[in-house]
Amino acid sequence: MFAEIIAVGSEMLTPQKVDTNSLWLTQELNDLGVELAAKSVVGDDRTRVSEAVRAACGRAEIVIVTGGLGPTEDDVTREAVALALGRALRFDEKICAGIEERFRRLGRTMVEINKRQAFVIEGAEILPNDRGTAPGQWIDVDEQGRVVMLLPGPPNELKAMWERECRWRLRARLPQQVIRILHWRVAGMPESDLDQLISPVYTRYTNPVTTILAAAGDIQIHLRARCATADEADALLKEVADQLEPLLGERLYSKDGCGLDECVIRMLRQRGETVCVAESATGGLVAQRLTSVAGSSAAFMGGFLTYTDAAKASLLGVSQAVLSNYGAVSEPVAHSMAIGARERFGTDYALSVTGYAGPEGGTEENPVGTIFVGLAGRESAEVKRFRFIGDRARVRSFAAHAALDMLRRRLLR
Ligand code: ATP
Repeated sequence: MFAEIIAVGSEMLTPQKVDTNSLWLTQELNDLGVELAAKSVVGDDRTRVSEAVRAACGRAEIVIVTGGLGPTEDDVTREAVALALGRALRFDEKICAGIEERFRRLGRTMVEINKRQAFVIEGAEILPNDRGTAPGQWIDVDEQGRVVMLLPGPPNELKAMWERECRWRLRARLPQQVIRILHWRVAGMPESDLDQLISPVYTRYTNPVTTILAAAGDIQIHLRARCATADEADALLKEVADQLEPLLGERLYSKDGCGLDECVIRMLRQRGETVCVAESATGGLVAQRLTSVAGSSAAFMGGFLTYTDAAKASLLGVSQAVLSNYGAVSEPVAHSMAIGARERFGTDYALSVTGYAGPEGGTEENPVGTIFVGLAGRESAEVKRFRFIGDRARVRSFAAHAALDMLRRRLLR
């Protein structure tokens, strides 16, 4: 079963305001096993909203229209939906009395324009709004079970109405089904490479549905199976997962949705080992990520923020000769930073990061985006060179992620 959401409101066509209602509603729909096929934002224009509703009704079984139920001239949703469905609007005395009563309770007098909110589309069920004045409407459109919902725009009103009025109504008309989700996370490869690697497998299945989400070197793979029973859904997920897992190898770092920072802290704690950091280009981002995990104090001992050559020399013992021969952004400096930090904190591991985050700086050999990550362990130290593309914030967050991933891979060995 497919749904479409139409967010009505000209303010969401400006750079200042985002339609967040649809994100929340999408999660709710997915939890009920309903896929969102499309969504749109339409300004406060009766004809445009009406056309959008008509088109959505031609494609989806569930159409949710949010916003535009207020009392003013630019609140056009009721009229637009009535027009799209070819139904009349009728004035509902009871709703009007309810709005009047609400105003009285708040010590105010209802003004004439509020009566607009008492118009109901022919055949609609009224959905009471206990957080605001605009009631919602539920319209069973045809024998095939097509439904159109009108919900208020303010997120708190919409959520309350959905939870009290819409969720059970919708569930009652959906076939009995169970949804099971696998939430995997992958590090150390670009999204396009990952897709090329796994798409030959997942594109063969429409159930489970596979979604890939990427951010700062971190990729999430969601597999969502929808079946009549949990056993069937689990079996489908296993069938696909068993094919994907060997392709991903050690790049797959989480099978329960936990982040890389959490995964690294977990692994260290399980092994009873510790880490410290020496950061330059990332300015504390690696430490920030590690310490964002509850219970990190058992594994993370501290760090050095060594932004200048002098700080690298005095705090970490990087030799002046190495700094002047190779420059601060170099493999030997990353190496020496990691070893220096580990010795000083007495930890099992130390991560170091030095590089050019940009936008200025860089050399021909090591242009902006070049990052060296060092990892010192008890027996040896290694350095990896990365080249990230993008602005300063992107390079820094990719660098922090790469550092954490380097430690994770060492811990796997
Ligand atoms: P009201 O009775 O408050 O007028 P309404 O149904 O007419 O309700 P709108 O006037 O369209 O709702 O929107 C009221 C406020 O709700 C907007 O200013 C905005 O802050 C918020 N809002 C509306 N639509 C959305 C949306 N899709 N996502 C997030 N916020 C929204």
